[in-house]
Amino acid sequence: MTALLLWDIDETLVTTAGAGERAIVRSARKHWSVEVDLSLIPYAGCTDRRIGHLIRKHFGIAQDESTLRAYLDDFVNFVSEELPVSGSRILPGISEVVEAVRTSPDHQQGLLTGNLRASAEAKLAPFGLWDYFPFGAFAEDAIERLDLGPIALARASQYYGFTFAREEVTVIGDTPHDVACAHAIGAQSLAVASGRFTPEELAGCEPTCLVSSLEESAALSFLSL
Ligand SMILES: [Mg+2]
Repeated sequence: MTALLLWDIDETLVTTAGAGERAIVRSARKHWSVEVDLSLIPYAGCTDRRIGHLIRKHFGIAQDESTLRAYLDDFVNFVSEELPVSGSRILPGISEVVEAVRTSPDHQQGLLTGNLRASAEAKLAPFGLWDYFPFGAFAEDAIERLDLGPIALARASQYYGFTFAREEVTVIGDTPHDVACAHAIGAQSLAVASGRFTPEELAGCEPTCLVSSLEESAALSFLSL
């Protein structure tokens, strides 16, 4: 049996030290003339497209696909501008785990992220992480993160030429949305309290395994690495 790991990006693989948040604020200012206070918007774990919808809803801005598209395009541009000056960094234990998966004959890995593909690449490439993930499900694929799980599984099957058993699939992420994604596809979940959610909050979502960092030996043994 081959295990499949599906990785979240923000606060799981890397932290962008606020670059993503500043890009959201700048693009909303440019396209909707609003000053976003992200502490008022529950955006963690949401797809980039859903965050755009949440901002419009918060300010009562009418639905309009063309301005949303322009907001997202500039969001990606602003992420690329903000990242080099943000002090973004790879999170503890990640280099070792993704490399262990890459060299394991029994493991494969891909992305299951709310990022647009371009912002995912912008966040991972500086750390040499982008090339570890030959496939992924991104914000272009669905507005709701919950809908990304089946898409990630379909991409994995397409890429590797076989279907992974659901019990061999693990979603790794830092928010309740990641755990819910795993539940929705009958997969296991590894919750990592490396983001804004506490271990207690994540435990309430009933992940299969819960750690504070991917450096913990409990994470490696759970993943059979
Ligand atoms: Mg995350």
